[in-house]
Amino acid sequence: MGQHSDPGQQKSRLETMTWPEARRAAQNGGRVVLLPVGAIEQHGPHLPVDVDNRVVTWLCDEAARQRPDLILSAPPIHYGFNEHNMGFPGTISVEVEHFVNYVYDVCRSFVRQGHTRVVMINGHGSNAMPCALVARRIVNESEDALAAAINHWSLARDLAARIRETPTGGMAHACEYETSWYLFLDPSGVYMDKQVADMVDHQTPFVWVDLMAGDGPVALIDDWSRLSNGSGVEGDPATASVDKGARYAEEEVTNLIRFCEDFRAMKVHPRRNYTARGSDPNPYYDE
Ligand SMILES: [Zn+2]
Repeated sequence: MGQHSDPGQQKSRLETMTWPEARRAAQNGGRVVLLPVGAIEQHGPHLPVDVDNRVVTWLCDEAARQRPDLILSAPPIHYGFNEHNMGFPGTISVEVEHFVNYVYDVCRSFVRQGHTRVVMINGHGSNAMPCALVARRIVNESEDALAAAINHWSLARDLAARIRETPTGGMAHACEYETSWYLFLDPSGVYMDKQVADMVDHQTPFVWVDLMAGDGPVALIDDWSRLSNGSGVEGDPATASVDKGARYAEEEVTNLIRFCEDFRAMKVHPRRNYTARGSDPNPYYDE
C-alpha cells in the first residue's frame, strides 16, 4: 500500500491506529503527543464525576482532529490524585507516588516509541504538581525529548478575564467555568436545577483557589469535606452557559494548537558540562 492511499495519515487518535500507522506517527521525532490527564471526582450535585476526563479528552481529540499532521491524541489517564475529595461519593484517588510513576511510564513509553514532544493536558487541579514533576523527569532523563504539562484552563485565562461573572477567588470546582464546559459538551448531563453556590471560606486572605486567577500565595489544600457546605462545589455555577463553554473550548483548542506548533519547533541543544569533570569550553569563562 502506497503512502497516498494510507488512511493512517489522517487518523488523529492513537487508539484507532494499527501499529504501522503508529510507527509512522512517531517517525522523525513524531507528532506532538497530547496525553489527557483527568480524574474521577465529585463535581457537585449537578455535574457527573467525569468532568475532568471529558473536557481534556475532548480538547486533545479536537486539537488533533484539526491538525493530524502535527498532533497525536493519546488515550487518557482516567484516575487522578484526589485524596482531598475522598469524603465525597464517586471520587477515586491514586496515591501521589503511584500517580507520578504511572504517568511517567506512559510519557516515557511515547519517547521510547520515537516521539520527542509529549504534553500532558491536565484537567484536575491536584494533578498539576505531579504532572509538572513528570514533565521535568522526562526532560531530565531524555537526550532529545521534551515534555510539558498544561492545566487546560490556563489556556483560557485571557478569555476568562473578559467573560467571567464570578468574582476572583471563587471559580475553582464545579463552578461557572467547569459547568459551562459541560453544558457545551453534553447539556443532558447537567442538572442546572440542582446547582448550588459555595463560596468557600478559606479563613485567611492568604489562601484561596481560583482556576483562572492563579491561587493565593500560600499552598494549602485541606480536605474538602472540612471546608465545603456539603455540596462539593467551589464557586457559583449559576451563571454558567453553553455559550461560555463554547467560547472556552474554541479558545483552548486554538491556543493549544499554537503551543504545539511552537513546541514542535523548539530546539533541543546538546547538554554541556562546564564542571571540573567536564571538558566543554565555556564561552564566557575560561581559566
Ligand atoms: Zn473538575
